[in-house]
Amino acid sequence: MDDKIILLQKILDNSRYTVALCGSGMMEEGGFIGVKKQEKAYAIEEKYGYCSDELYTSGFYNTRPELFFTFYRNEMLDFPPELTASGPALAALEQNGHLHCTITSNIYDIPRRGGCKNVINLHGTIYDNHCPRCKKTYPLEYIKNSKRKVPLCEHCNIPVRPLVSLFGEMVDSQRMTKTTLEIGKADTLLLLGTALDSEVFSHYIKYFNGRWLVIIHHKPHYMDYSASMVILDHPKNVLPKLT
Ligand SMILES: [Zn+2]
Repeated sequence: MDDKIILLQKILDNSRYTVALCGSGMMEEGGFIGVKKQEKAYAIEEKYGYCSDELYTSGFYNTRPELFFTFYRNEMLDFPPELTASGPALAALEQNGHLHCTITSNIYDIPRRGGCKNVINLHGTIYDNHCPRCKKTYPLEYIKNSKRKVPLCEHCNIPVRPLVSLFGEMVDSQRMTKTTLEIGKADTLLLLGTALDSEVFSHYIKYFNGRWLVIIHHKPHYMDYSASMVILDHPKNVLPKLT
């Protein structure tokens, strides 16, 4: 692997503009398993009587807010992914000019909490919540610690909305456009904890027109051959070795 690190360092040194895409592997390396993953999906259906595709939707938020927030607190907020060495390593790369934009589909704001400045949280974050009517914002703690099962706006008495993309919802169009532009600008695209066929990113990756596509992911994938370089490991074991 050390040869690959040296080569990757050379790629970054020569890259004019580098963009990183952070997928679900960035949460898995912090011990978090997504609710859509097979190993969790069955337990969720047993526990709630519905699958996550039904629970984590605006339909449930609107019509069954108690169940929605029980699910959201238990499965999304109570055991978030632990921060790994990846976030600070990305921030260090950004600081020394080797990384220009980090785009993540995870809702835990991992790159920014690691210190990155130019971040696109494609699906929003658990830290942003507002009242859909008066737009008053509420911190994560308000959702977590609400004495009622459903956190209500203090003024309007209606459920506060976590500003995350729920399943089946359109992604914020400004973020989509910005993501497309950033990828189109990139000379090097890093796929961190995600594969080329990623449900979230595959559509955006089509806009990549640069020189080097690098995958750092612990799971091999049959499309890996089309990348310039593949490192089969967790990003947290690789990124801190770069300078
Ligand atoms: Zn309100």
